[in-house]
Amino acid sequence: MRTELIKVDDQSVEILKRAGSIIREGGLVAFPTETVYGLGANAYDKSACLEIFKAKGRPADNPLIVHVSSPKDAEKIAYTSPLYYKLAEKFMPGPLTIILPKKDIIPSEVTAGLDSVAVRCPENKIANKLIELAGVPIAAPSANSSGKPSPTTAQHVFDDMDGKIPMILDGGEAQVGVESTVIKITEDSAILLRPGAVTVEMLCQVCQSVEIAGAVKAELRADEKPLSPGMKYKHYAPKASLFLIDDSKVNFIEFVKEKQRTESCAIMCYDEEIELLENKNLLPVGKREDIKKQTHNLFILLRKADDLLVDTVYAHLPSDEGESLAIYNRMIRACAHHVIGGINGED
Ligand code: AMP
Ligand code: MG
Repeated sequence: MRTELIKVDDQSVEILKRAGSIIREGGLVAFPTETVYGLGANAYDKSACLEIFKAKGRPADNPLIVHVSSPKDAEKIAYTSPLYYKLAEKFMPGPLTIILPKKDIIPSEVTAGLDSVAVRCPENKIANKLIELAGVPIAAPSANSSGKPSPTTAQHVFDDMDGKIPMILDGGEAQVGVESTVIKITEDSAILLRPGAVTVEMLCQVCQSVEIAGAVKAELRADEKPLSPGMKYKHYAPKASLFLIDDSKVNFIEFVKEKQRTESCAIMCYDEEIELLENKNLLPVGKREDIKKQTHNLFILLRKADDLLVDTVYAHLPSDEGESLAIYNRMIRACAHHVIGGINGED
């Protein structure tokens, strides 16, 4: 199959109409959102959605998020609640996904047999217009091959999906850089299943309490059933082995300088550290305090690390608080919990 890669903005109505009709008629289109690029199919069309799993090599038991163009369209696919609307008022459209009881119109393949469905209303104007013009909700996971870092540019999508899907819409770099925050809600509280740009602190402004699911910070125990199937998969893995360094216990500069002398390695360092290190295979993440920039750069740099063909990658262990929890969650899984200076001493 030839894959068309087309530059678009929110004024490209004719192209978006064509993309919308491909989706409505059962085809796949990759499109930009404010978080990462999505791989979309008509959420009502079981066989179209199964093609998503095929193109990504995604395990069938990992459900898809369904995208709507306005928060009230959640009614078409799910049973909403007053708390859903309170959250929607504050955070939708935006990088928040809410798990709700599902209606029968959504095929069970989309939700991997669960009786709930994940609903998101993206803020990105191209994504939002595309859903509106498709005229159907769009089921869309991240548009990467399963196990690779999520794509934040159309070129990343092309690298993974060339020949597998008919169309990729190029709307420039995804702004946030990591996937949406995913929560499950009860009457007045939330459980955080995946951290993202909508933080625990922000959710606390609306919910009575917000519990962070165990697997967000730690490894699932072998006997533990995940609240969200995606939690159990090793994600975002670069080809090289990634090690995180707890710089409250280990001198980062000394440690990685030695590695630069003795190993084929890349270093994800803060901008301030560039001049302290040998100028070889450095992947600067942003300034130490600039969490938004670091989030934006995360997957771009993990993909760059692959291109460098190094054996190992060293990075700082991120903080697990506030906006940084989203980075922590991705990094800790990308490194398969290999933390130097971590709880169990040197890994
Ligand atoms: P992705 O679309 O690749 O960003 O992945 C979607 C994430 O949402 C995965 O971690 C899924 O496990 C999670 N998810 C989707 N639907 C549900 C659901 N009904 N219940 C719990 N988690 C879900
Ligand atoms: Mg994904």
